[in-house]
Amino acid sequence: MPVRTAGAQRTEASPQLDALARQDPEIADVIAAEAARQADSLQLIAAENFTSPAVLAALGSPLANKYAEGYPGARHHAGCELVDVAERLAVDRAKALFGAEHANVQPHSGSAAVLAAYAALLRPGDTVLAMGLPYGGHLTHGSPANFSGRWFDFVGYGVDRESGLIDHDEVRRLAHEVRPKAIVCGSICYPRHIDYARFREVADEVGAYLIADAAHPMGLIAGGAAPSPVPYADVVCATTHKVLRGPRGGLLLCGEELAERIDRAVFPFTQGGAQMHTIAAKAVAFREAATPEFAAYAHQVVANARMLAAGLETEGCTVLTGGTDTHLIGADPTGLGVDGRTARGRLAAAGLVLDTCALPYGSARGVRLGTAAVTTQGMGEAEMARIAVLFAAALYAEGEEVGTLRAEAAELVGRFPPYPGQ
Ligand SMILES: *Cc1c(COP(=O)(O)O)cnc(C)c1O
Repeated sequence: MPVRTAGAQRTEASPQLDALARQDPEIADVIAAEAARQADSLQLIAAENFTSPAVLAALGSPLANKYAEGYPGARHHAGCELVDVAERLAVDRAKALFGAEHANVQPHSGSAAVLAAYAALLRPGDTVLAMGLPYGGHLTHGSPANFSGRWFDFVGYGVDRESGLIDHDEVRRLAHEVRPKAIVCGSICYPRHIDYARFREVADEVGAYLIADAAHPMGLIAGGAAPSPVPYADVVCATTHKVLRGPRGGLLLCGEELAERIDRAVFPFTQGGAQMHTIAAKAVAFREAATPEFAAYAHQVVANARMLAAGLETEGCTVLTGGTDTHLIGADPTGLGVDGRTARGRLAAAGLVLDTCALPYGSARGVRLGTAAVTTQGMGEAEMARIAVLFAAALYAEGEEVGTLRAEAAELVGRFPPYPGQ
């Protein structure tokens, strides 16, 4: 059953945007054109979503004006009594939503949350075991272009060549060989549930911390559609955007015993003033995520992804691991004679907006699709089957066919406006 949450609330044309259009037409034009782009092409980027009008209202509120270094009740600025209420609400709601003893809602992004987790638990030069970047590790899991690869000694585990699943034997072997200070589980394109209990077991065997970077599945976890790392990981890092559908930002969860170290690692170690408008918007998103409607959305996201993955396979496109448990699909179009980069360009021209992704053991890149945004719009399995057909047609379309497909995609998405009434 399609679930429409973000769009359920009709919003009036915003007086703030009208004022902006008079004062700065150049930027107002960008905003209007981007809103139109989001509404008339298919948003299949696995990390994106349509946050609710209530979240957008908190983001565009005067809380953006307030300086608030420190934590509620212990700020370095005067006048924080009211924003303290917002941050306490955000913290309490995050703890309740995920069943965690401690939450820090200040990280400016997912990467900032990971940086703070490392800062709390590690010293420069420490060894960390994480999914290797060619298999789906994030930049913050040891990329040489990122602080993580520069400051820590990352060792990468991979996935099984045949099944595409995490190779737990390799994780255990590497953990015993390199004795890491921390093990990181979490990925930008792994489409299956992560077996946190198994990672915990290996971490305990070698005396390592377990850090779960659950940026992608956190919204599914909130809605009860994916297993939670909270009972197993020492620290859970996440984003509040992506499937969770809140504002862009980060979140950290941990047990009481690490609470103080985590808080100090965020402020003052890696960040300055907290962004109170974003924190208020996180509180709004956590409240939304605790509703039965959100749980229904999270389950529909997975049902849609399964349907889309099956549709892609029917069209002859290889799907990594043979399917998905989550919102995320890794697809290898090379069997259809198109590499991921070419596919991304052709699909975008036909109104299907998605990313490329690494293909384990492949020389070319694949494509990554996600169903969070289209599910928020209210699409269901029937629309996923249609998207799979458009996907396959777009890989080969030329000339006028591209325009025809673009119009078909716009017609489909036009029936599911992300913000009805705007
Ligand atoms: C998205 C993501 C991040 C980073 O989030 P940003 O907000 O873009 O910094 C970190 N780790 C993983 C696994 C992610 O998927």
